[in-house]
Amino acid sequence: LEGEFARLDRLNLVAQMAAGIGHEIRNPMTTVRGFLQILRAKDELANHWEHFDLMIEELDRANAIISEFLSLAKHKVDDLRLQNLNAIIRALYPLLEADASLGKKAIRLELGPIPETYLGEKEIRQLVLNLVRNGLEAMGEGGELIIRSYREGDAVVLAVCDQGSGISPDALAQLGTPFFTTKEQGTGLGLAVCQNIVVRHRARMTVETGEQGTTFFVHFPCSVDFSQASLSTANNFHYTGF
Ligand code: ADP
Ligand code: MG
Repeated sequence: LEGEFARLDRLNLVAQMAAGIGHEIRNPMTTVRGFLQILRAKDELANHWEHFDLMIEELDRANAIISEFLSLAKHKVDDLRLQNLNAIIRALYPLLEADASLGKKAIRLELGPIPETYLGEKEIRQLVLNLVRNGLEAMGEGGELIIRSYREGDAVVLAVCDQGSGISPDALAQLGTPFFTTKEQGTGLGLAVCQNIVVRHRARMTVETGEQGTTFFVHFPCSVDFSQASLSTANNFHYTGF
């Protein structure tokens, strides 16, 4: 399977709108959630507690979607500076490990010698976090997730390798489409955020998947001329597998 898609213009528009209205929507939602909790606790409404729980759950889901939308729009390109990817991953490791241990999983770092590349620290943290969380969520109970870094030609490669059940051809075709999710509690925005970050780094994301698990690769260019403000909207999320 090979594919390519370009949804970035749509994504950027969506991100700008989200930045404008996200905060404004959140405040009234917080108020509503608070009153729902008060009503849920009333004895005379006890026969409706399931409905209140459902309403609160739905509000939380909407809130999660807004959070991910905001993170689409938050970061700026000029955050990028020469630094080592390994340092960012190491600093993030305790958080990742805590996530993993909740599901009795382990995370192994295999960080090789790599040169510094132009990276936005917050964006890379978000990228790694989103890929790792997807990997962990795909693995069920137990298992090991590996985060690798290595140099390949003119690129520094980040690889997030899980032992999950893989991505179906149907899902592969929709990967990165905002709101595409196969999870009950999913937002379907994690990979869309990743793609946005990858493109701003002039990087490239690929995925390999099969019955043994899935690996997401991100290739960061070692030398890149950011003065050439040619932010390509021809996004390059190639995938292989099956
Ligand atoms: P969410 O995690 O909220 O569902 P994402 O954009 O992060 O949204 O992922 C979209 C979908 O892509 C997931 O619901 C899942 O079906 C699929 N996916 C992403 N990463 C993996 C992975 N490592 N293994 C299996 N499926 C994955
Ligand atoms: Mg996700």
